[in-house]
Amino acid sequence: MTKLIGVLALQGGFHKHVEALSRSGSRTKEVRTASDLKGLDGLLIPGGESTAIAKLLVNFGIIDPLLRRINSGMPVFGTCAGMILLSTEISGYDQFHLGCLDISVERNAYGRQLESFESETLISSLGQEPFRTIFIRAPKITRLGENVEVLGTYKGSEIFVRQDSILAASFHPELTDDLRVHEYFISML
Ligand code: GLN
Repeated sequence: MTKLIGVLALQGGFHKHVEALSRSGSRTKEVRTASDLKGLDGLLIPGGESTAIAKLLVNFGIIDPLLRRINSGMPVFGTCAGMILLSTEISGYDQFHLGCLDISVERNAYGRQLESFESETLISSLGQEPFRTIFIRAPKITRLGENVEVLGTYKGSEIFVRQDSILAASFHPELTDDLRVHEYFISML
C-alpha cells in the first residue's frame, strides 16, 4: 500500500512539498487539525515562519496529538522553520517548539546579506551528484545532540540531520526538481 504522508498546512510553503511527495509516488494529505493526523505514515513540517506555525499549532490543539505520534515513532521531516520547530532549543527566542530533535538552532543565522542563497552541495547520503540547496532566512545548528546523525553539511555547518525517525533540513528541497531528499524521507517510513 502506498504510504500516506501528511504535510502540515497551517502556514508556509506546503504546496511544493505536496507536489514533490506526490511526484515521488506518495499519497499526501494536508494537515490542519488533530484529526487530520489519523492514518498518516509520516508528517512533513514545511518552512515558513516558525513563530506563526507554533501559534497555530497551539491554537488548533495539535501539539499533544502530534507529540504522541512523534514519540510513538511516526517519521517526521522538518524543513527550515520545520527544523526550528522540531529542535530542543532555539537560541535567544522564547517561542514554542516541539523539542523532539536534540539540536540547538539559531534562527536567521546567515545574516542579512545572505537572507536567500543557494549552492550546489555534495550530500553524500544522497549520492555523488550535488544537490541544489536553497536557503531562505535559514537557521543554523549550533549544537548537535550525541544521537543526531549528520547527513549533510554546507561550509562546515550541519544542514541535513537525522535522529531515529526524525529528519531535518535547513534548506528547501521542495524548491528544486530533485526528489532525492523527499525520497530519503519516504525510505524512512
Ligand atoms: N526564518 C524563519 C523562522 O525563523 C524560517 C525561514 C524558512 O522557513 N524559510 O521561522
